This record gives sequence, C-alpha cells and structure tokens, in this order.
Amino acid sequence: MKTALVIDDDSNVLTELARTLEDAGWRVLKADDGDQGIELAVAERPDVIVCDLLMPRVNGYHVCRTIRANQTFFPQPRIVVISSSNYEADRTNSLEAGADDFLLKPIQPSELLQILELDGGTTFIRKAPAILKGPTPPDTTYFRQAVGTPPSVHFWGVRGSIATPGDSTLKYGGNTACVEVRADGELIVLDAGTGIRHLGRKLATEFKSYPIELSILITHTHWDHIQGFPFFIPAYSPHNQIRIKGYEGARTGLQSVLSSQMESPFFPVSMQQMPGYLQVEELKEMQFNIGKVKVRAAFMNHPGICVGYRLETSGGSIAFLPDNEPHSRLRMTPITDSAQSQEVLAFAQKQDEHLIDFIRDCDVVIMDSQYDAEEYKSHIGWGHTCVDDAVALAVIAKVKKLFLFHHDPDHDDAKVDSMQEWARELAAIHGSKLEVDAAREGVNLVLNRAAK
Ligand SMILES: [Zn+2]
Ligand SMILES: [Zn+2]
Repeated sequence: MKTALVIDDDSNVLTELARTLEDAGWRVLKADDGDQGIELAVAERPDVIVCDLLMPRVNGYHVCRTIRANQTFFPQPRIVVISSSNYEADRTNSLEAGADDFLLKPIQPSELLQILELDGGTTFIRKAPAILKGPTPPDTTYFRQAVGTPPSVHFWGVRGSIATPGDSTLKYGGNTACVEVRADGELIVLDAGTGIRHLGRKLATEFKSYPIELSILITHTHWDHIQGFPFFIPAYSPHNQIRIKGYEGARTGLQSVLSSQMESPFFPVSMQQMPGYLQVEELKEMQFNIGKVKVRAAFMNHPGICVGYRLETSGGSIAFLPDNEPHSRLRMTPITDSAQSQEVLAFAQKQDEHLIDFIRDCDVVIMDSQYDAEEYKSHIGWGHTCVDDAVALAVIAKVKKLFLFHHDPDHDDAKVDSMQEWARELAAIHGSKLEVDAAREGVNLVLNRAAK
C-alpha cells in the first residue's frame, strides 16, 4: 500500500484530504505543522507528501527544501504543494524549492488523485497564460511625433537616498530621482527612482493605446535611482519599447542588478515577466546618440560606478549629475602630511576640472546639492555635494541655469527654500548671472535656446 503524508495547519483541510486519500486506498500520515511533517517524513518515508504552503514556523518551502536536501531520502517522494493563493511567484518558488506540483485550494479530490498517480514529471495546474508578444515591436511613429516639440525637462522625483512623503515635503516633493527629457522625437528618462511611477501614469493617460518608445539612462544602481522601475506602467504593455542604458556595476552587470531587485521575495513579478519590449544595454563608450540627441557620460566621484549625463538637444544642453562629491572638497580633509597633501590636492583639483569641462556652458545643469556647507562637514566621504560647491562649479563652468537636486531626506520644504535662497546669494556674490532653482517635483521647463 502506498503511503501519503499530508501536512496542513488547517485541521479541516487535513481531515478532508486524509479521507479522500484513504477512500482511494492510500495509507495516510497526518501532521499539522512543518516540523512534525519533516520528522514523520524522515521516519516513515512516504511515497507522496501533500504540503500546505503557508504555515506558521516551518512553511511549505522549508519542508520542500529540507526533504530535497536529505541525501538519505531515496527514492525522493513526490511533493505536491497546496495553497490558497494563486500567484505565479508562489508556484515558481515552490518549484524552485523542490515541489513537483502546485495545487490551488480548495482541492478537488479527483484532481489530487490524478496527480498522485502520475509516474513522474511536473504538472503545474492552472498556470497563468503566457503573455503574447508580437515578433516585432509595434510602430511608434505617432509617439515620436508627439514628444518632439517643444523640447522640455520635467521633474518627477528630486529627492535623494529614500522617498520622503509627508507634510514637510509637499512643496518640493518626496519622490526619488527621475527626470524626463523630451526632445527631437525622443523621450529620455534620467534615472528610475520612485518618481518614475508618476511619469508612467502620465504616459499611459497621454498616449492611451498608442505604442510608446523611450530610453532610460541610469546614472548608477543605488536604490533611489532604480526603485521605481518595477512600478513603471509602460513596461507592462506589450505595445511599448523601453531601452535601459547604463554602465556596469562593481559586482554584477546592470541587467542582473535591475532584475534582482524584482526577484522573489522582493517583488511578485520578475523583469522577464514584464510584457513590454525591454532591452538593457550595458554601455561601454562614454559618447553615444539616442536618435538625434547626442549624449556624453562622465564618471562621478561617488561610491561604486556612477556617471553623470550631458544631453545635447535642439532646445539646449542638459546635464544630469545627481550624485557626486567634488574631489578637492573630499581630499581637503584631513591634512596630515603637507608635502603629499599638496600633491593630492592638485590631483583632486584636476579631477574637478574634468567635471567643470563636462558641464561647461550648459543651459541646464541638474546637480547634487544634498547638504549645506555645515552639514557637509559631518558627511565627508558620503559621495554628495554641498550647495556652496554646486554653485561654485556651475559659476566656473558658466552654466546658465542650475537646479539643486537630490534633496536630503531630512530636509523639509523650509530648509530647501533656504538653500535655494543661499545658492542665489552665492551666485550674486560670485558676480554671476547663474539662475538657481531648487528642483521641484512637477516643474516642467520648456527648453528654448534660441529665445535666450
Ligand atoms: Zn542617490
Ligand atoms: Zn548614490
């Protein structure tokens, strides 16, 4: 007589399943938690284990993994995971943990018996239907025509480090880094922080069923620059094409970092399951084109691989440097050996000159200004700029308009206001015509170089 072990913390399910199996001629063992189930399995070596997924203490995944890891268990039993939740991630994870089958409660006796009589292989019941993607991406002519004019910059997320919703951030906004640029038939998204969620909603409303085609440039893969992507609605339509470009991270490639934040147990839908045409491109060159828009990248001084981008559009040039710590400011402290320090400082200044060259004569620069000068003293080496340095760099580089960006999550609206005011004063002290605004969620700036 074949033996089945049923493990479920719900006594009604346990009784019903046991009755079904006994009526069909099985010898049935019962356990009402995972621990007891594993013990019984080891002692009695059942042919089949029917195990609930969600149980306190030891869940179904744990039972599967323990049984599969037990080398003395030969032949291995067939394991059927049963669950009341019908999610693709639960099925996939059960399979990965070692289950042969996944059945949705309430369990139909005939369905269970049919599965238990199978000799081998895997039967996943009620699998979600595969998403149908056409062989070629749809035509996006309408979208390209619509996004061409006038060239514009739109702020969807201006905060650094972590999203900060609440009363104290209503004016500037609490979403993390995301800026949209529309120019020359291209829609270019700079970073995919939490702000990208609102951009996605806007695009869905604006273009309805017209296919969308856009590029996302990632400066680096810290959470505040990628965490919104799983909530970007256009990626869920098979009509849309999304190209994500960035540079390889220190440990793993861009594709792997972006998809790992969507792996279970962090997120219920994997990046591979997103229906849109997604293409992740690891950039090698520091200059490339997106359609007619010329893009240059430069490495920033920030932990890990981090770049800034400069876009040349028909409406003007835009530089996006959300995370950067000026080299000379970082190297200025502490000074121990004066001879070496001179050398180090000279080297650091040279590095900063590269940055100045990178943003020289730019129409719009969106720059890290996370701290005021006083706060910076206790954040040396954190990879961010103080507002005084941001203004100085912009003035030296003859930038036309500077947006203070990557606001500290601890800065309320009043603090950002005061930093904006101080930055404007500083520009005046330097005798510069530099315009300065603190970046604010929802602000849309029309670029018109000719009008200036
Ligand atoms: Zn950041
Ligand atoms: Zn960062």
